[in-house]
Amino acid sequence: MRVRSDLTNAGRLVVKVGSSSLIYQSGKPNISMMESLARELSDLNNRGLDVILVTSGAQGVGFNRLGFTRRPKNIPERQAAAAVGQGMLMHIYEKLFAEYGVTVGQILLTKEDFSDRKRFLNARNTLYSLMSLRVIPIINENDTVAVDEIKLGDNDTLAALVGGLVDADVLVLLSDVDGLYSGDPRLMNGAGLIPEVREITGEMERAAGGSGSSVGTGGMMTKLQAAKIAMHSGAVMVLGNASRKDVVRRIMAGEEIGTAFWPLEKLDNKKRWIAYSSSIQGKIFVDDGAARAILDSGKSLLSSGITKVEGSFDLGNTVSVMDPQSREIARGIVNYAARDIEKIMGRHSREIKKILGHQDYTEVIHRNNLVAKL
Ligand code: GLU
Repeated sequence: MRVRSDLTNAGRLVVKVGSSSLIYQSGKPNISMMESLARELSDLNNRGLDVILVTSGAQGVGFNRLGFTRRPKNIPERQAAAAVGQGMLMHIYEKLFAEYGVTVGQILLTKEDFSDRKRFLNARNTLYSLMSLRVIPIINENDTVAVDEIKLGDNDTLAALVGGLVDADVLVLLSDVDGLYSGDPRLMNGAGLIPEVREITGEMERAAGGSGSSVGTGGMMTKLQAAKIAMHSGAVMVLGNASRKDVVRRIMAGEEIGTAFWPLEKLDNKKRWIAYSSSIQGKIFVDDGAARAILDSGKSLLSSGITKVEGSFDLGNTVSVMDPQSREIARGIVNYAARDIEKIMGRHSREIKKILGHQDYTEVIHRNNLVAKL
């Protein structure tokens, strides 16, 4: 996919819709939004496309049903709201899609379903089998069992990971904005909608809320994070406004609406898993020379360039590689446990055997297991 008209040839589509589009301020579901989504997706499914819906809104409608006036702070109450709300959402979707003769199936996923290879394959098999039966899978994060520390936390990331899981051609994120803006048009002269993105720049990240800082669920930062995953998974991601009439159909017809993020070089499955799905168990800090070797020349990480280790990870775990300014520059799978790296850091690879009494690898992280420029 290189240009908008290529979207007419797409075979597999993941659509994500956010809570702000699905729920009114009162906490009640926006049924006409759900109805138009069901109509559009049913039609695309009838046309022969594989369609997956990633929906938010479970907690939102659940709070309201349970009589909370605002989002409860404590986790058990939020989980209770998700349990109640998820059933309510599915009840409405099931009814609306059935009107168009389309069957839906619910899948609730957690972070481990992506980080654990076996569960990843199981989830993928289920999705493929639903799609081959022409069922539209409806996915949400399993908020009832995932607490904050182990959550993906936002459905933008979830939708992008699902897109990668099933090798989708297109990911459509529907929200309450028209697309990505170069800045706030009310504050910045000349700021406007960016229709096409071929590279996510630091400037875009700053305009979205500052790199490294998250504006939370539904913010533009999570949309850019989702775009990065999609761009490295070979999918085009289009960010559009859920309230525009027939928005999904128009995007898929190749109309220039919203912001399209075009795919970059596709990372192989293993590297995508390292970069976006595996769980990070620690940090390795490196000096300038090692950072440059990784970023500019795609080199492996050697013990000599390591300055500090954080976390008590084991061999085979994924860690973040940090530059001297504490910026994450890469992620990779380590060949040595943290306690061993502490002993060999700053030393030449030749000395590893002498220090540890064994040397199974020359590299601390081999370049085949290292993903830079996340
Ligand atoms: N899983 C959350 C819910 O259903 C939504 C997360 C999000 O809005 O991104 O309430």
